[in-house]
Amino acid sequence: MSSKYEPLWKAIQGKALDVCTLTFDEVKDICGFTIDHSFLRYKKELKEYGYTVDAISLKNQTVSFVRLQMIACCGLNCAQCDARIATVNNDDKLREKTAKKWAKMNNAPQITPETINCMGCRAAGVKFAFCDYMCEIRKCVVAKDYNTCGDCAEMETCAIVSAVHSSNKAAKNNLK
Ligand code: SF4
Ligand code: SF4
Repeated sequence: MSSKYEPLWKAIQGKALDVCTLTFDEVKDICGFTIDHSFLRYKKELKEYGYTVDAISLKNQTVSFVRLQMIACCGLNCAQCDARIATVNNDDKLREKTAKKWAKMNNAPQITPETINCMGCRAAGVKFAFCDYMCEIRKCVVAKDYNTCGDCAEMETCAIVSAVHSSNKAAKNNLK
């Protein structure tokens, strides 16, 4: 049985967006009450509706939701990735900026603006070459027929995925 937040989960699902940000006032309009602390306890119910909570901003009084399909095998949020944002918006300036940054960061001059095309690790459509067929995490998840490392009993001790989780706590949390 769902909690008092069920109308919100249904509303998010009904919007059918990859990412969706609502103000606290909009949440109140949907639920009929002000968002409270119990939201943190109940938010896991949202997974049954195909979404998860991305971020809560007390400063901006907003809460953001992301479609589960946007969470990569390792837990990174593809919706926040510059490669995906550049692809969705066909933004060549962002492709250029991203390629420059990633080529330097990975010492990989083969990363050019033309290679920056990706709809997401688990989404249908074009993928960035590394994420498509070089990423050991994605390869392992696909081989085991999991959705993400979150389905794997070995995640806590896995040396492969810990390379991401040791520097990105949010990625690990996205898989819980
Ligand atoms: S799969 Fe694509 S969108 Fe996701 S992290 Fe990799 S490059 Fe970015
Ligand atoms: S073994 Fe590691 S990389 Fe493979 S699915 Fe499990 S947690 Fe992910």
